[in-house]
Amino acid sequence: MPPSVRRKRGEGQWALGYREPLNKNEETKKNDDGLNVRRRIIDIYSKTGFDSIDPADLRGRFRWYGLYTQRRPGIDGGKTGALPDEELDDRYFMLRIRIDGGQLDTRQLRVIADISNRYGRGTADVTDRQNIQLHWVEIENVPAIWEALEAVGLTTTEACGDTPRVIIGCPLAGIAADEVIDATPQIRDVRDRYIGSPEFSNLPRKFKSAISGCSSQCTVPEINDVAFVGVVNDAGEAGYQLLVGGGLSTNPMFAQSLGVFVRPEQVHEVWKGVTSVFRDYGYRRLRSRARLKFLVKDWGAEKFRQVLEQEYLGYALPDGPEPAAPLPHRDHVGIHRQKDGNYYVGFAPKVGRLNGDLLKVIADLADEYGSGRVRTTAEQKMVILDVPEARTEELAAELARHDLQVRPSVFRRQTMACTGIEYCKLAIVETKQRGMDLIEELEKRLPDFDQPLSININGCPNACARIQVADIGLKGQLVVDESGEQVEGFQIHLGGRVGASFGRKVRGLKTTADGLADYVERVVRKYDEQRAEGESFADWV
Ligand code: SF4
Repeated sequence: MPPSVRRKRGEGQWALGYREPLNKNEETKKNDDGLNVRRRIIDIYSKTGFDSIDPADLRGRFRWYGLYTQRRPGIDGGKTGALPDEELDDRYFMLRIRIDGGQLDTRQLRVIADISNRYGRGTADVTDRQNIQLHWVEIENVPAIWEALEAVGLTTTEACGDTPRVIIGCPLAGIAADEVIDATPQIRDVRDRYIGSPEFSNLPRKFKSAISGCSSQCTVPEINDVAFVGVVNDAGEAGYQLLVGGGLSTNPMFAQSLGVFVRPEQVHEVWKGVTSVFRDYGYRRLRSRARLKFLVKDWGAEKFRQVLEQEYLGYALPDGPEPAAPLPHRDHVGIHRQKDGNYYVGFAPKVGRLNGDLLKVIADLADEYGSGRVRTTAEQKMVILDVPEARTEELAAELARHDLQVRPSVFRRQTMACTGIEYCKLAIVETKQRGMDLIEELEKRLPDFDQPLSININGCPNACARIQVADIGLKGQLVVDESGEQVEGFQIHLGGRVGASFGRKVRGLKTTADGLADYVERVVRKYDEQRAEGESFADWV
């Protein structure tokens, strides 16, 4: 049936009267609010154990509190999608701790480190949305984990699920010498008002927010569902541009600017308005079309702005300046001056992989050299703030002793990897270890290469590591090797850049996992030989 005919049956938009659940996920959400599972975890499941968990909670509502079942070890990528959930599910959970704006203090970091060591076999990964993820968590320990987190102001509420996920923000908010505006109050305002509120706990799908006044746009606003980007208007007032409808995955789209200027004190109500449009008009019939980007694509920016203003805000927003051209390289690694005269020190664990002991080390160093403020970045990196200039090199040397590089190679600085087959049930291939091995190999083979070059590695066709906007994007899949065997490998995308272009999928361009370093080395050498002065990889390719 052609799409136009199908759509006449409706896309499941609440605002158009489609309140009856049109698929299993919608039914689960209608039967019971995901937020209600918290009480059942505390009162029942943590006492009665894994086998007592209602499947609709286990594989549905648990996500509202950042809990996903892990992949059972030893199941190869060829079985992904072929086995029933019960066979793929391990009895352990991944637990995602949301860190809105990436802002942590050392007390909080030590609590995460303790939880990791006590309940998560020492695991801890920094994600590309500034969260920290632990693994091997058992249901019996979840209430104690929440108690410890909540005692220091942290939460896992709505870290996953069809909810407003973590709000990403510049790790240098309030301290960067060149920032447009400090977005911290707006991030806190939105988080405190709406996260965990039943008003937004049943969205059509996940909803990603970014609020930032960062001059280097490190929060990748173009690929969020809603993004507020710091700007100064013609009257010299600092506020925000508003972008809606960005997202990657199988139909990647960049967010569109609504052309408005949002004053800082309006951010929370405009966020509420945009999220309400998504809740009420978002497509709920098919999960594959339930992200906000599809609605924005169909409506266009003009209609979206009109509905937002007329039906939700009740007033018109003033026109604002248009977004500047996308920036090529966005991170905060290295030693840089803050606006108060101190320095921040950004460092690179490999592909975001840390552990409980390392988190403790980082907390100790942040107390000893800084003021106890630590940040996570949207590039799987971390930053220690408030370091006096005279102590920055000493701190860098201390971090390096733990293999946390302040002046990393370009490969370590710009390579990201998703969770992959080690824990993820959707994965087809291994990613984290492969990412770490690739970095080491490229550092040996190309020690002098120093041009910006991002390499993002995904374990499946989803986009958790943003492959579509990397210079070299690697999508995990099974490929056939020279001897005709099916082995782990990657489909290659080349020349992606956030806000400007999605990487081109070159037909037939695949590599086995074993041949990955050789392939990347070849393409990087060719680029280095052929590039004109200042020519980026995306332009060259
Ligand atoms: Fe899992 Fe795929 Fe996301 Fe990687 S990209 S974490 S394999 S769903």
